[in-house]
Amino acid sequence: MAASNSNNPNTNPNNGNRSQRNLSIIYLAITIVLIALFFYTSAGGAVDEVDNTVFNKMIENQDVKSLEYVKKDNCVQIYLTDDALRKKEYEKARKLNPDGPHYYIQIADYQVFNDNLRELKEELIESRLAADTTLTRAKVKDDYEIPMKQNTTENWMRELIWLLPTLFIFGFFLYSMRAMRGGGGGGIFGIGKSKAQLFDAKSPTTVSFKDVAGMEGAKEEIEEIVDFLKNPKKYTVLGGKIPKGALLVGPPGTGKTLLAKAVAGEAHVPFFSMSGADFVEMFVGVGASRVRDLFKTAKEKAPCIIFIDEIDAIGRARGRNSLSGANDERESTLNQLLTEMDGFSTNAGVIILAATNRADVLDSALLRAGRFDRQIHVELPNLVERKGIFEVHVRNLKLGPDVDLEFFAKQTPGFSGADIANVCNEAALVAARKSKSVIEKEDFLAAIDRIIGGLEKRGSLITPEEKKVIAYHESGHASVSWLLRYASPLVKVTIVPRGKSLGAAWYLPEERHITTYEQLFDEMTATLGGRAAEEVIFGKISTGALSDLEKASKQAYAMVVYYGLSKKLGNISYYDSTGQADYSFSKPYSEKTAEDIDSEVHDMIEAAYTRAKDILEKNKDKLTQLAEILLDKEVIFAENLETIFGKREFDNAKQEVEQPKTEDKE
Ligand code: ADP
Ligand code: ZN
Repeated sequence: MAASNSNNPNTNPNNGNRSQRNLSIIYLAITIVLIALFFYTSAGGAVDEVDNTVFNKMIENQDVKSLEYVKKDNCVQIYLTDDALRKKEYEKARKLNPDGPHYYIQIADYQVFNDNLRELKEELIESRLAADTTLTRAKVKDDYEIPMKQNTTENWMRELIWLLPTLFIFGFFLYSMRAMRGGGGGGIFGIGKSKAQLFDAKSPTTVSFKDVAGMEGAKEEIEEIVDFLKNPKKYTVLGGKIPKGALLVGPPGTGKTLLAKAVAGEAHVPFFSMSGADFVEMFVGVGASRVRDLFKTAKEKAPCIIFIDEIDAIGRARGRNSLSGANDERESTLNQLLTEMDGFSTNAGVIILAATNRADVLDSALLRAGRFDRQIHVELPNLVERKGIFEVHVRNLKLGPDVDLEFFAKQTPGFSGADIANVCNEAALVAARKSKSVIEKEDFLAAIDRIIGGLEKRGSLITPEEKKVIAYHESGHASVSWLLRYASPLVKVTIVPRGKSLGAAWYLPEERHITTYEQLFDEMTATLGGRAAEEVIFGKISTGALSDLEKASKQAYAMVVYYGLSKKLGNISYYDSTGQADYSFSKPYSEKTAEDIDSEVHDMIEAAYTRAKDILEKNKDKLTQLAEILLDKEVIFAENLETIFGKREFDNAKQEVEQPKTEDKE
């Protein structure tokens, strides 16, 4: 969205500047042509070299159309037949250089090469004849006939190659003279300039708070900043200090950038947007210089807002991960940022907003008072907020009468604002593909499904037996979770393959902030219900439960090591909220404890698995019933379970949902 209205604050497009840019383009073009010539004329520059084994294989497969000996380079160029070029292994050659030469082989001596080739051909002919007596020698010999051209001319271009560096340096010299006279436009001398994009009052698209749905808390906090930018006097007259920066923290796609833009739009001030990663370059000192430049430009435009997306790219705690030397560059960038933030007085009217999804890894110096002293948390939207976001994004869509945004909001637990924006767009595309005049409910549902699970792949290669196993596996999850008190109740199960998974189940987890042992154990049992069903019904288990096992194992490990939920280890947690442990090689516990952890995790998972099997064994007929419906219809809903199992006894599920759980089976 930025592309149309961005302009670089560092260049004034006047005529002198433009002609200088034209010149640089000419130099660039000359350089490129020279380099291209170099590669074109040197044999094998653009094509791959093959070794003897590969070459012999080519001959054996009759892939070679002709050969050309290039005396100058002491190599033989290989031209492949049209049939061969269609093969997968030669795809690269076909793309690079369709007319050939496709490959080359470096040789020591032409005579030796020729002899070897003849020998190889003889061998091949003999073995072909031995294998099939109906063939005649003449015919087979024909198959291996490969014309060999000789190219003994000297290449004048290659003689001129030594001129290239001279020309290059000369061109570069001229170019830099120009660049310097022009006061440093773009190019290599502009590398220390910030790459910030500027959105100002003249930009056609301004975002306002009404484009941001939900996020009431965050909006409120940020309104104060807007107010300050609108009438700074009100605050400064009283001697009050305005926060210099606010840090927006939240998962990706929750609208942090959007919110920052809305601030700029509401306050009618320029808005500089930059990503933390843009500061980091491979040249030493560039990051710091970019920070300096950014602040300089911003101060000229004050009052204004600087927005740094993904600030964790530069703001990571210093001194951590000090094994790699690349740290120094980031550190100096960060230091410069801190200096700049301290440097300008509060009244300068530059406010820095930054976004990250990992506030925990940021350097504490950044969070100190007077810098990013304000943290605004942005969470994934809840039901009401999701409805609001849908409303924002369907504003420009033509909707059919059956569209119910509330219903969509219920179907999209765990979606971020960006996901919802994506759903709306996708729904429009789906409807357009069907040449509809309005977008209907089914288009939205198709879009939601697509976002959840990637593209539907109907009719992909699954045998009926495999399908049966998948149906029973998914029914196993559904049945166990239905019958356990604390497991999340099911919303929908499908065995329509999507993306990489062959089947999936959606559940409605309760919103809870403290989870008990029983709840976790029930969930683990349901997770293992898929594999248990396979064993109960077919008496054998498959590899299809990989992601289930991974999930169960991780959960059991977390229960033992982090949540202190195992008797043997007791009330101990090895969780490290500082994240420091991620970088250390040693475990915080002894070998003995490690063994205990292993055995506790193992016992817990075994217990859950046995429990799942018991439950399914007792309900085998119902499980079978369910799986048959699933095989028939490919999709089942909670209602189907209710008809088979009866009403769920313990309906402790609330409407609102934290995260959708999709459970996949590869
Ligand atoms: P972040 O910076 O948090 O990763 P963005 O601000 O880039 O997320 O959000 C991406 C897109 O998602 C936005 O351009 C907008 O279309 C949509 N979006 C996200 N949150 C909201 C919201 N609360 N209201 C409306 N649209 C939203
Ligand atoms: Zn499963």
